[in-house]
Amino acid sequence: MIYLDHNSTTPVDPHVLEVMIPFFTTYYGNAASIDHDPGHEAQRAVEHARTQIAHLIGAKSEEIIFTSGATESDNIAILGVAERYAEKGKHIITSVTEHKAVLDSCAQLEKRGFSVTYLSVDEYGQVRITDLEAAITPQTILVTIMYANNEIGTLAPIKEIGRITRAKGIVFHTDATQAVGHVPINVDELNIDLMSMSAHKMYGPKGVGALFVRRRTPRVKVAPIMFGGGHEKGMRSGTLNVPGIAGFGKSAELSGKLMAEESKRYQEFTQYMVNTLMGAIEGVRLNGHPTVRLPNNLNVSIANIESKSLIVQLKELAVSTGSACTSASVEPSHVIMALGFGEARAHSAIRMGWGRFTTMQEVIRAGEILVDAIQRVQKLNI
Ligand SMILES: *Cc1c(COP(=O)(O)O)cnc(C)c1O
Repeated sequence: MIYLDHNSTTPVDPHVLEVMIPFFTTYYGNAASIDHDPGHEAQRAVEHARTQIAHLIGAKSEEIIFTSGATESDNIAILGVAERYAEKGKHIITSVTEHKAVLDSCAQLEKRGFSVTYLSVDEYGQVRITDLEAAITPQTILVTIMYANNEIGTLAPIKEIGRITRAKGIVFHTDATQAVGHVPINVDELNIDLMSMSAHKMYGPKGVGALFVRRRTPRVKVAPIMFGGGHEKGMRSGTLNVPGIAGFGKSAELSGKLMAEESKRYQEFTQYMVNTLMGAIEGVRLNGHPTVRLPNNLNVSIANIESKSLIVQLKELAVSTGSACTSASVEPSHVIMALGFGEARAHSAIRMGWGRFTTMQEVIRAGEILVDAIQRVQKLNI
């Protein structure tokens, strides 16, 4: 199997696994029970991981809150800010191409009496800064816009958004799950106040994530959504997943080290695949921004193809039609629909995501398999 679905999840890097194992067996203490050495060992590991993750994003370690993943981080950020700042206003701004973890959290707030503006995007999947400025009202308390889209790889104009939200005193949250460890990020330079991350999108384990919560200039506050014990500065109660967190820390360190070299390699893969598909097949269109994008993502639509029926034929190839979270439904991708090219383009989208262990040989083989399958299906459809 050639696995090209790294935007859905990544394998655990062997170096990450190596760091995790002792915390299941030898150092199994509870990081909150520090009256003894086992607890201290666990706490030390958690604090080390906090430093590693903070370092990757230009934050301070006390600004990192551990969670069960980016879904939980998004929920804490959005529901937590809404509750904490409700007296100031009840208006939130997001975009139509967000991950369901953000969209469903916003929908929940609408049921609770908040109003939400869903910004549309341009043909590349970017929100327009003028739309954002026009949507802000004196009641706006939160802007939540994802850093990199999980389906089409487009990067948002985060710096411009951060400049506006900071000037207006509005909290800025970004779901950076696809971007952290893949593109350089500095939360101070970008004026990010809250940022969601997930270990399993960057060669760490599943079920571990983090939320960056800015503590200085300005100090940002989020109300908890779960109660019990007051762990993680009261923002996320519950016994910490020490092995997972230790692994997350290592994955952050590794991703920082390997980022530049990996993105260069991924660009070669992307270029090769685009040239191969466009050279052999009529009607190949790139979804997402041509340059302002994740290095490890390629999303194309192919004329006269139903990507769902194409992909089931590809027994040796793991690619996807879009988001793993919505692929259980037959609805066309809400992200590709938002680009404004119509349903056919959304139904014919194929997402490929390169990873740390992907080789050029695999990309070449994947290209052969895809071209062959697409040509067969296109012949049938004519
Ligand atoms: C994967 C993903 C999530 C969900 O992360 P989990 O850790 O699996 O909960 C949220 N947002 C984006 C953009 C993602 O890609």
